[in-house]
Amino acid sequence: MTASYRVLVIGGGITGTSILYHLALKGWTDVALIERTELTAGSSWHAAGGFHAINNDAHIAALQSYTISMYPKVAAESGIDIGLKLSGGIELASTPERMRWLEAELAWHAMMGHEGARLLDPQEIVDLVPIVNPKGLAGGLFDPDEGNLDPNGAVYAYAGAARKRGATVITHSRVLGMKRNSDGWLVETEQGPIQAEHVVNAAGMWGRKVGLMAGIDHPVTPILPHYLVTEDVPEIMAIDWVMPAVTDLEGWTYLQREQNGAVLGVYESNPNHWHPEGAPWDFGVTLLPPDIDRIAAELEIGFERFPALAEVGIKRWVHGAFAITPDGNPLVGPVRGLPGYWAAAGVMAGYSQGAAVGLAISNWIVDGDPGDDVYAMDVARFGPWAAHDDYLLATTYQFYARRVLTTYPHEQLPAGRPLHTTPAYDELRAAGGQYGVTWGLEVPQFFTPGQPDFVHEPSLNRDNAFSFIAEEVAAVRTDVGAYETGVYSRYEVTGPNAESWLDHLLAGRLPKVGRMGLTPMLHDKGTLMGDLSVTRLADDRFWIIGSYYLQEWHLRWFEEHMTSGVELKNMSDQWLGFAVSGPRSREVVQQLVDIDLSDAAFKFMSARLVNNGRMLVSRMSLAGELGYELTVPAEEQAELWRSLANLHVRPIGDRAIDSLRLEKGFGIWSAEFTQGYTPGETGLDRFIAWEKGDFIGKEAALREREQGSARELVTLSLGDCDADAVGDEPVWSGDKVVGLITSGAYGHHVEASLAMALIDREALASGEPLEVSVVGRRRPAVALVEPAYDPSGSRMRG
Ligand SMILES: Cc1cc2nc3c(=O)[nH]c(=O)nc-3n(C[C@H](O)[C@H](O)[C@H](O)COP(=O)(O)OP(=O)(O)OC[C@H]3O[C@@H](n4cnc5c(N)ncnc54)[C@H](O)[C@@H]3O)c2cc1C
Repeated sequence: MTASYRVLVIGGGITGTSILYHLALKGWTDVALIERTELTAGSSWHAAGGFHAINNDAHIAALQSYTISMYPKVAAESGIDIGLKLSGGIELASTPERMRWLEAELAWHAMMGHEGARLLDPQEIVDLVPIVNPKGLAGGLFDPDEGNLDPNGAVYAYAGAARKRGATVITHSRVLGMKRNSDGWLVETEQGPIQAEHVVNAAGMWGRKVGLMAGIDHPVTPILPHYLVTEDVPEIMAIDWVMPAVTDLEGWTYLQREQNGAVLGVYESNPNHWHPEGAPWDFGVTLLPPDIDRIAAELEIGFERFPALAEVGIKRWVHGAFAITPDGNPLVGPVRGLPGYWAAAGVMAGYSQGAAVGLAISNWIVDGDPGDDVYAMDVARFGPWAAHDDYLLATTYQFYARRVLTTYPHEQLPAGRPLHTTPAYDELRAAGGQYGVTWGLEVPQFFTPGQPDFVHEPSLNRDNAFSFIAEEVAAVRTDVGAYETGVYSRYEVTGPNAESWLDHLLAGRLPKVGRMGLTPMLHDKGTLMGDLSVTRLADDRFWIIGSYYLQEWHLRWFEEHMTSGVELKNMSDQWLGFAVSGPRSREVVQQLVDIDLSDAAFKFMSARLVNNGRMLVSRMSLAGELGYELTVPAEEQAELWRSLANLHVRPIGDRAIDSLRLEKGFGIWSAEFTQGYTPGETGLDRFIAWEKGDFIGKEAALREREQGSARELVTLSLGDCDADAVGDEPVWSGDKVVGLITSGAYGHHVEASLAMALIDREALASGEPLEVSVVGRRRPAVALVEPAYDPSGSRMRG
C-alpha cells in the first residue's frame, strides 16, 4: 500500500526538521520527513553551530532573530540538550572606514530593535576576549544576539519536538524520483512509494538534484568551507565568563570557544566548489582532507590576531560542504508551474535561518502566505538563467569570497556579467553607460559621456558618480533625457475574460481604451503584491507593466489566480524602449510618431499603439516632467535610441531616476512598496477603486481604511549630510526609533539630501524633531508636507 502524507519534507538537516516542526506547530500532523541516511547526515552534523541575527535584508534579519528565539523553546519541548550558548559576538574593524561601516550596522541594529549592541574600543575588546591581539584594531561592534550551539542536538531537538506533536520521521530511505499526479506528488523512495499533497525540497547539498526530480533546476551548488578545532588553550581556560564569538572582518577568520579550546573558522578569499551538480548520493557523514595551502594566508592572519592558538595543537580539521546560492540567501517557496512543490534549498546559514525557513514555508503551505516579506529568500527572485553553471559558479564564488569585505551603496559586482543585454547596450555603453544588473539584465546606472577611462569608485559617502548624475537630472529638468525601460516587465492580457479577470486581480479601476492607469495589486490579507501600470489597447487587450526583476514572482501570482478565457503573455524581453522626459520631450517625440501629441489630442495618461502598431507611446513620467514612454519591438530598440541621440536627447540611468522621483515623492517597488506593506501606509490606497465590485484583498483593505494605518509614507529632507540614506536606516524621535528609511538619494535639482520613510503617524503628528542615521551618524530630518519639486504636478501634466 502506498503511504500517504499531506506534506513530505525531503531532508533531515536543520532546515527539514525545522520545517517539520513548524508544520506540526500549526496543527498539521499528517506530515513526514524523509532522510537518505541518518538525521544531520548532510551539512548539519559538522557545522560550527554559530548563529547571528544580522542580514543585509531587514525582513530576513527579523526572521533570523526568530530563529534564535526558538532554540530555548525547542530544547525545552523536546527535552534535548542543544548546548545553547548566547555568548554575543564581536566584529573587529581594522580601518576607520570599517569602523564607520560598523556605526552604520549599529544604527541598523537599533532599527531592528536589537538591544544591547554597542561599539567597542580595542581595550574593551581585549577585556571581553583576552586572546585577541589588538594590534592594528580600530575597534569593534558587540552584538548580544550571537552565539553557538550543538548542531546535532538542534536537529534532533526539532525532530523530537515535531514527533511529540505527531509528525513522522523516516530515515534510511532516499527519495529516488517524483511525479505529479492528481493528488499531488507520487514520490518514489528506497522504502516504496509515498503519496504527498505537498513535497518540500530541504535536501541541502543535494537540493539541485532533488529539484530536478520535480522539474526545476535550482541555482544552488555546494562549496567547501574549513574550520579547525584547537587543543586546550590555557588562556581560554582562564576565562571564567561566557566568551563572545569574534569575527575579524579584515582578518578573514572567526573564533568561538569550544570547551577549553577554540574553533577558528576561515572566510575563504579563494573558495572551492565541489560537485556543482550536487553532492554524490553516497556521500556519507564524511569530511574532506583539509586544503591548508588554499587558506594559508587567512590562517596566518588568524594566528596573528589570536596568537594563543598558535601555541597549541590542532585537535581536528573540519573541511566539509554546504549549499550556497548566488546571493547567499536560501531559495524558499512555491515554484511556478509545479503546484505542491516547495523549495527550501540553499540554506547556507542553517543555524541562523533554520526556523526562519520553517516558519515561512509552514505559513505558506498552511495559510497560503509566508507571513512576512520574504522576497530576499524567495525562490522566485531568480530566473532559469541563474542555474547555468557558468553563472552559478561565478556568482557563488564571488559571494563567498566577499563575505567579510566592506559593502558599499551602489556597488556593482562583476560576476556572471554581462549575462543579458538590451539591443541598445553597445551604443549606450559607447555613450558612457556605466552598468548595473537587474535579474541578469544589464541596466545603465549613470552615464559618463566623453570619459572612456572612468572607473566607478563606490564609497560610504557620495561616490564619484555624483556630478554625472547631477548633469542627467539637470537635462531632464531643463531639456530632455531618456531612460532605458528594459528595467520594466511587460505582460499582455487578452481574451474574452481579460477585463473581468484583471478587474478582480487588481485593486484599481481599469482604464478606458487608449488610457493607462496605476493600480496596486493586493494579497487577500491586504498587503501589496504589486504597483502596476495598466494600459488598455482594446476592450479585450491590456498591457501590464511592472518591474523586470519580478517576472517569476508576478507570473507565479498571475498563474495561481488564472481563469479560463484569458491569455497571458510575458513580453518583457520582446518589447522595450525609452522613457523620454523633460520640457523638450514633446518636441522630440513628436518627430518619432505619426499622431498629434498636443495636449488636447494626447493628454496625460494617454496610451496608443502608433507607427502601424510598431510603437506604444504612453504619456507619463516617473521623473515628474512632461514625458512619454516609447516601447518598441526589441529588434527596433537600438534604432529608436539612434533617433533619440540624433535629436540630442541625454541618456540617463537608474541613479538619476532615483534623484528625480524622490524630488517628486514617487515611491517604487522594492523600496517604498513591498509585500510587507499595505496600501494605507504607503499611500497606494488612493489608487484603489473602492466602489467597484469584489477584488482580491478588498475586505482587508476596507478594514485598514476603517481602522487606519499606524505608519505613513513621507518624504524627508535631511540636513548636514556628506552622504545620502540608502534604505533601512532608522528614523529617530529623541531616543526612540519611530520609522525606517525606504530609499534615499540626493535631489540634485532641489539641492537637498532626500529620503522616503515609513514613520509612525503619532510621531509625525507630535511635531517632535526627527533624525535619520546616515552611515551611522544622526542627521536632522524634516518631513515635507508636499513634494520637493513641482508640488502641483503642473509640469508633468502640462
Ligand atoms: C564547515 C562548516 C561550518 C559551518 N558552520 C556553520 C555555522 O557556524 N553556522 C551556520 O548557521 N551554518 C554553518 N554551516 C552551514 C550549515 O551546516 C548549513 O547551513 C546547514 O547544515 C544546512 O542545513 P540543511 O538542512 O539545509 O541541509 P543538510 O544539513 O545538508 O541536510 C540535507 C539533508 O537532506 C538529505 N537528503 C538529500 N537528498 C535526499 C534524498 N534524495 N532523499 C532523502 N534525503 C535526502 C541529506 O542526507 C541531508 O541530511 C557550516 C557548514 C560547514 C560545512
